[in-house]
Amino acid sequence: MKISIFSNPGDASKQVSDALKAKIKAEKLTLDDEHPDIVITVGGDGTLLTAFHHFRDQLATIRFVGIHTGHLGFYTDWRDYEVDELIDSLAHDNGQSVSYPLLDIFIKYGNGQKERLLALNEATIKKVTGTMLANVYIKDQLFEVFRGDGLCVSTPTGSTAYNKSTGGAVLSSELKAIQVSEIASINNRVFRTLGSPIVISPNEWVRVEPVNSDENLMTCDQMMVENRLIDSVTFRISKQRINFAQYRHTQFWKRVSESFIGVKPND
Ligand code: NAP
Repeated sequence: MKISIFSNPGDASKQVSDALKAKIKAEKLTLDDEHPDIVITVGGDGTLLTAFHHFRDQLATIRFVGIHTGHLGFYTDWRDYEVDELIDSLAHDNGQSVSYPLLDIFIKYGNGQKERLLALNEATIKKVTGTMLANVYIKDQLFEVFRGDGLCVSTPTGSTAYNKSTGGAVLSSELKAIQVSEIASINNRVFRTLGSPIVISPNEWVRVEPVNSDENLMTCDQMMVENRLIDSVTFRISKQRINFAQYRHTQFWKRVSESFIGVKPND
């Protein structure tokens, strides 16, 4: 089995990744950063997002494993002190995996150019100065005229990230759905948006057509998309998925409860 270690630059993560590399060699597993079967990220969810985009062209053949070194750890099942246990699981790997939905983003620029992006957490389209004005279509039907800071479109596993800060719902990671949430919409007697998040199915898509499109910003996970005049952006659930090696099972709702509420049994 070919393994790549993808670490953030912090001292704690570097120590863990050095220990991992030594143990991988001792187990006669192979280190391969070009075409790995398994990518182990060391850091937090941010590190996993960076690794996801780094290996975006090999998603069909790669399984990810996340080790967290003191971060929040939504995508990271392992703690830094569990390296031996993880190596044992790798040595006895039988291909077990779990996969999650991704978000397809199709951008049409004002100059006619097109671009396709893929997000693990979310994409946002927003305006930094002034109000973003955009026509929002669902399945090519005009749904609303949006006025506000922007819109956030997230995957189920991304629903605990930016989406949650915008008042979006936390979606079960078992759902095949994407969620559109508003970022500071303007609602009064004159201007009106739905005012609540919406969740759409794999057979549906959302198209956002900004008016005055030259000052809008787009983000895709941790990255800012090159700032160009945007004609339209279409969001839909992707046919591609991200795979994780499932050596252990952390129940999704337990993770949500522990990360955001901190409730322990019998508290
Ligand atoms: P960052 O600003 O350094 O970190 C943002 C925080 O989001 C970190 O605590 C990170 O966890 C956490 N996070 C990432 N993915 C998550 C998920 N799926 N569920 C729960 N928490 C998650 O930026 P970054 O590390 O490069 O991550 C980029 C992400 O930041 C974006 O995809 C977006 O979701 C989020 N973000 C949120 C806001 C907001 O809430 N207002 C604004 C901008 C961006 P770790 O500490 O484990 O890395």
